Amino acid sequence: MERSYAESRAKELREKLNHYGYLYYVMDDPAVPDYEYDMLYRELENIEAEYPDLQTDDSPTLRVGGKGNNTFAEVVHTVRMESLQDVFSMDELKDFYRRTTDAVGEVDYIVEPKIDGLSVSLEYRDGVFVRGSTRGDGDTGEDVTENLRTIAAIPLSLKEKPAYLEVRGEVYMPQSSFDQVVERQEIAGEKPFKNPRNAAAGSLRQKDPKITASRKLSIFVFNIQQVEGEQLSSHSQSLDYLKRLGFKVIPSYTRCKNGEELQAEIEKIGENRGRYGFDIDGAVVKIDDFALREALGSTAKYPRWAVAFKYPPEEKVTTLKEIQINVGRTGAITPVAVFEPITLAGTTVSRAVLHNQDFISGMNLNVGDKIIVRKAGEIIPEVLGLAEKGENEGYFTLPEKCPACGAQTVRDNAEAVLRCVNPDCPVQLLRNLTHFASRDAMDIEGLGGAVIEKLVAEGMVSSCVDLYSLDREKIASLEGLGAKSADNLLAAVERSKQAGLARLLCALGIRNIGQKAAVLLAENFGDIDALAAADREAIEKIEGFGGIMAESVAEYFATERSAELIERLKAAGVVMTQEKIVRGDKFAGKTFVLTGTLPTMTRTEASKLITDNGGKVSGSVSKKTDFVLAGEDAGSKLVKANELGITVISEEGLKAMLG
Ligand code: NAD
Repeated sequence: MERSYAESRAKELREKLNHYGYLYYVMDDPAVPDYEYDMLYRELENIEAEYPDLQTDDSPTLRVGGKGNNTFAEVVHTVRMESLQDVFSMDELKDFYRRTTDAVGEVDYIVEPKIDGLSVSLEYRDGVFVRGSTRGDGDTGEDVTENLRTIAAIPLSLKEKPAYLEVRGEVYMPQSSFDQVVERQEIAGEKPFKNPRNAAAGSLRQKDPKITASRKLSIFVFNIQQVEGEQLSSHSQSLDYLKRLGFKVIPSYTRCKNGEELQAEIEKIGENRGRYGFDIDGAVVKIDDFALREALGSTAKYPRWAVAFKYPPEEKVTTLKEIQINVGRTGAITPVAVFEPITLAGTTVSRAVLHNQDFISGMNLNVGDKIIVRKAGEIIPEVLGLAEKGENEGYFTLPEKCPACGAQTVRDNAEAVLRCVNPDCPVQLLRNLTHFASRDAMDIEGLGGAVIEKLVAEGMVSSCVDLYSLDREKIASLEGLGAKSADNLLAAVERSKQAGLARLLCALGIRNIGQKAAVLLAENFGDIDALAAADREAIEKIEGFGGIMAESVAEYFATERSAELIERLKAAGVVMTQEKIVRGDKFAGKTFVLTGTLPTMTRTEASKLITDNGGKVSGSVSKKTDFVLAGEDAGSKLVKANELGITVISEEGLKAMLG
């Protein structure tokens, strides 16, 4: 590479990587996929290897990880928390194998899945958890002890009591927790996390440990950084020891003795990717014997005795057959690419969302083009770009008119989406009615998309109110229905009148208000008229509500159309009230800590009982704790409560306090 080009490219790469690193490490909101970042990083490393003087002090290749945003106290790591050298192919793996065998001969390697989470250090004195911190830049991390305490898989006291122990583990968010968190964020109108790794990092670096606790994180411990009072000579031995102490250690590891075994194991882990229930982004290969590790030592950033094999996201080229235009319930117009089916990361895919006009124009996409589609592990398929132009020149332009009703579309600049704003658009009507009748909403059995289509086509319904005045004979005469179906449907419609306020609020399809938000609104207002009269500020006061959600509710009730709809539904006999949850104040000002298994209640139920009565639930015992609610197998929290002289109560005691 020419020097002048190398110089300008290195500068460009540094700027890009530092920016991406900031978004990833500090904001927990990555702008590009990891693989893309890794490839740019690799390119910069190569340039710096060719021209070492081009490595400036701000080069990301000189750093491990990133600094946090100073929310927490600093922790200086006495044993550096090193990163791992990445390899991206079997050839690069062979180089590592050759390098190590040249230096120390034929040895045993351990291969483990590489958990895609964030690295933390946990410290124990005399078997008791005393401090936990993030890796940070490897030398200095952040003190996140209180947040780590909320992770159930982290033992607070160990089964054996070494005088001092520091272990390293990977905090991660299980796929099931991730799905729940994203759903909650969507309901709350917040920007959802992009992947479980960022969700784990964002959740661990919360100021309020209660938020961390609600995110259901877990951990795999994979290394001993320091230990006093135990002699260990290999990695496999230390994993067994960690298990004995009560840690949740890396889920599986395999011993490999040569290059072929290494390759086979890495391929196996790669094939199983996506079946673990948590994200992995590679496999880690480590020399087992500690003395050999010592002999090999480390570079400034990485140990020489280990590498991380990173699986590339799978990408394939296929032909774009069609761009479908979908009209959503809110009128949002979404283009969807329909392409020749391909198999990616183990599943067949044939569709991917194209988001909006800017996305299509930016890639110059049109029907007939060859496109590159990618799917990385858990991630939904995405169109990466154009591989080859087909016969259609230029890019596909979204229709100016709604494909369903022909009304002029409007560009919603804030969201870069095109919207059909015709309130009578038939596709929106169909989607709204389907939503209205759905299980989460009014739960009208037998009223699915196909029946609704017939009702709309026959002109029998043009609004959800019409469902409450359907004609039995007309339904019975519809194709595929008959008298019995008509009776069943009418009975289900009748039952739905009693569905209650929460379901009704969900059914109305208010923007940004899903099932859970609707329940909160119903619990807090108890009556639709009270809610309709409330202003944005009053709604925003609801715990868990954000400004956007409150705004959407207020906007919805401000229109005449909504007022009229509600009046008509009311006249049809739809119930618009629900028991308001009145929060008691018996526990006002009192803080509870829960530990152990209660005889009849789950922890969630007990917590709800406490908060419904004005109390607070905290994750750790301190002088500020008023009561420790202890069940069977209560752990260190009970010990601490006794030490501090805090009142310990049973489930029965809790109930007695409420009378
Ligand atoms: P890394 O993720 O490549 O690997 C090192 C880490 O692996 C260790 O810190 C350790 O915590 C973890 N690990 C998981 N399982 C392990 C096991 N079994 N044994 C040992 N270690 C294990 O390196 P990194 O320095 O943490 O971060 C770099 C990563 O961050 C890259 O993958 C990069 O793609 C990503 N990144 C992405 C962006 C972006 O914009 N998308 C920006 C910056 C960094």
